[in-house]
Amino acid sequence: MATIAFIGLGNMGGPMARNLLRAGHDVTVFDLSGPAMETLVADGAGSAETAKAAADGVDCVITMLPAGEHVETVYLGEGELLDSLPAGTLVIDCSTIAPETARGVAEVATEKGLAFIDAPVSGGVGGAKAGSLTFICGGDEATFTKARPILEPMARNVFLAGPHGAGQVAKICNNMLLAILMAGTSEALALGADNGLDPAVLSEIIKQSSGGNWALNVYNPWPGVMDGVPASRDYEGGFLVKLMTKDLGLAYDNAVKQQSAIPVGALARNLYQLHAGQGNADLDFSSILRLYRPE
Ligand code: NAD
Repeated sequence: MATIAFIGLGNMGGPMARNLLRAGHDVTVFDLSGPAMETLVADGAGSAETAKAAADGVDCVITMLPAGEHVETVYLGEGELLDSLPAGTLVIDCSTIAPETARGVAEVATEKGLAFIDAPVSGGVGGAKAGSLTFICGGDEATFTKARPILEPMARNVFLAGPHGAGQVAKICNNMLLAILMAGTSEALALGADNGLDPAVLSEIIKQSSGGNWALNVYNPWPGVMDGVPASRDYEGGFLVKLMTKDLGLAYDNAVKQQSAIPVGALARNLYQLHAGQGNADLDFSSILRLYRPE
């Protein structure tokens, strides 16, 4: 079993760290939020006052932070975590950030002899709780092989997408498509409801037809259609609109750099930004339905 520092215990990081504890790893946690740490300590984790203290003497550091600036702060900024780790330490960043930010952190880590991998995830809070996330890694084969057994208690799938940054590229492509299909699913359900159809019945019909998709299968955006999803608890928890807006911004910036056309992704970005600006930034992203059905 490994000794692991887990930094960032939000909607995703909390349940991920819990699955590492359940697998028998020795986990020390750090988060800026005291209550987030307390729940993990109650489950058997050690805690520390800083990221650096949590990582003292561990085999592996895992971060699950909101955005690139947080990752840079922890690894390169005030925390200077990379400076304090002995050569050979495995460092896994699971946050969704820009590919070039991941490459920048990887470059510094590699110079210091650390084994760094970017490993953003897909599968949402449900996947984090169930230990069924998809990890999309970027790095070299040897680091990937070393990281795999650590990731497995949290994962159903573990992919190596390519070199450093490739995990982030694959992740932002996935999330751009997710934003598009959640908005499209909401639009289709709202059109059906405007015609007097029951959204639950319509959802079942589309699920078994050519419009079937992940949102309808496990994350229905219409309140009351599916138990246990954010739509059935006023869109609390889950994957926040502000994080989806961040990911659509990453896709947009990347498309500008690559001179790729993403007309539908750009429209989705505008829809989510409009929605965030209307006071919904801290709701789950499936609340995009409210653009079509304001309450
Ligand atoms: P969150 O906002 O719920 O949690 C982030 C946590 O990081 C918070 O507890 C915060 O206190 C902590 N934090 C911030 N700065 C810190 C610092 N300097 N040191 C220590 N802790 C710090 O976010 P989340 O939903 O858990 O998402 C985390 C990452 O995973 C994001 O990049 C997101 O895009 C990605 N992601 C989220 C989901 C989802 O469904 N929520 C799914 C896939 C990927």
